[in-house]
Amino acid sequence: MSEAAPKAGQLTFVAPRRAKPQRHLADLTMAERRAAVAELGEKPFRADQLSRHYFAKLTESPGDMTDLPAASRETLGQLLPSLLTSVREITCDDGMTRKTLWKLFDGSLVESVMMRYPDRVTMCVSSQAGCGMNCPFCATGQAGLTRNMSTAEIVEQVVAGQRALARGEVPGGPGRVSNIVFMGMGEPMANYKAVIGAVHRMVDPSPEGLGISARGVTVSTVGLVPAIEKLSNEGLPVTLAVSLHAPDDELRDTLVPINTRWKVAEVLGAAWDYAAKTKRRVSIEYALIKDVNDQEWRADLLGKLLKGKLVHVNLIPLNPTPGSKWTASRPEDERAFVRRLESHGVAVTVRDTRGREIDGACGQLAAANP
Ligand code: SAH
Repeated sequence: MSEAAPKAGQLTFVAPRRAKPQRHLADLTMAERRAAVAELGEKPFRADQLSRHYFAKLTESPGDMTDLPAASRETLGQLLPSLLTSVREITCDDGMTRKTLWKLFDGSLVESVMMRYPDRVTMCVSSQAGCGMNCPFCATGQAGLTRNMSTAEIVEQVVAGQRALARGEVPGGPGRVSNIVFMGMGEPMANYKAVIGAVHRMVDPSPEGLGISARGVTVSTVGLVPAIEKLSNEGLPVTLAVSLHAPDDELRDTLVPINTRWKVAEVLGAAWDYAAKTKRRVSIEYALIKDVNDQEWRADLLGKLLKGKLVHVNLIPLNPTPGSKWTASRPEDERAFVRRLESHGVAVTVRDTRGREIDGACGQLAAANP
């Protein structure tokens, strides 16, 4: 479905123009929902009832909305088109990690992952079908950008997870999604408008939205500086994650090609402004790649850049993509990297590798199902 594979370093900012998915309740603000309902010849207050069903009661089928007159159910059902079809579901970690491959209305494939921990449930969602940012270690980046996802297509991934939890389908009893990370397929800051809409649906109080705490939502970006600046003015105190992967421009130009537009100093500058405005600790993502970016001198350089800032480093052991020459760092190099960072007083954790055995990370399931 995607465009031809991009050449090394090639960036795609504007998604190809394609047919759009049908309009869905979750695309709309409360005021827009009332207008849409009125357009269908229904009383505006039906928008509130419909919102309560979709965002609070998680009702799936309009037929089950028994507080609505039968005729209205059918009419209002037009605002709840089915946008995602599950084509594959894989679980691991005794069912606590669950990955879904979704087919969109036009056949595009995207994936989401649910990870249940003792104290929280995190959903990793996609924001684009494919990605135009072309990071050479990332499976999605290698496939290129197919199209932007709509707000509702993004939200539906979370609602599907929320429904599965509510129905008790996930081991551990009924539960709720508490955290959302935009770390599935796509570059969220390259699909800005739809992503902001989706964040609103996630964090706006129920039944306008899902009522998930903004602090539990993380937007991860390669570093589109103007979009980071815009995000800092949205009044949405989400966590910003920057995929840095190298502290020096020379290496970052190759690992994260957007660096040829906005350099390390610029992206970190935008991150510190974001932290100052939102009072939120910025997360720095750093995939440790054996003998590529895991040298102690790079840890030292990274430590110097981050020292004293409102920041937390997330080290991710590289999840090798099929055919790639790169692999995860040796355990002793990983440990040395952590120690060096800590010597600068920088908070650091090594991310667990949940879902790895199900190609859990980074577009690998879609890549394996062309
Ligand atoms: N485009 C956004 C969000 C999606 S990727 C971004 O780049 O931040 C989410 C995270 O997974 C990013 O930090 C990305 O660099 C990382 N990632 C991608 N491929 C990976 C791989 N093969 N191993 C480990 N981390 C990877």
